[in-house]
Amino acid sequence: MEFFDKLGETIVSAGKDVGQKARDVSEIAKLRIDIRAKEEYVQEQYAAIGAAYYEKHKNDEVIEADEAEQFYLIGEALAEIARMKAEVLKIKGASECPRCGARMPEAATFCSECGAKLNDIFEE
Ligand SMILES: [Zn+2]
Repeated sequence: MEFFDKLGETIVSAGKDVGQKARDVSEIAKLRIDIRAKEEYVQEQYAAIGAAYYEKHKNDEVIEADEAEQFYLIGEALAEIARMKAEVLKIKGASECPRCGARMPEAATFCSECGAKLNDIFEE
């Protein structure tokens, strides 16, 4: 029914009284919100494709020249994010299991979730 309501408004809008103009402004505002939401949705899909592409090709021996810089910058940024997350955990007095990602006190010797030995994972 919304389609016919809008069709009605369009036909009536030839006259454009004050009330109609207010409704037009309101309709445009709503449409702009919907447009923004759809644009954000498309951006999210682009990002998902990009992330999948990065994961698929990050270990390729040869990376396309026009993508090499972005691959490098993404890798650097991800490493920096990991470093900063570890810093936050350290400040909170916590650590993260390198095997399963569970959080626990920094002093813990074993992961309470998966049992991995912490702080010395190379002994596994
Ligand atoms: Zn664990």
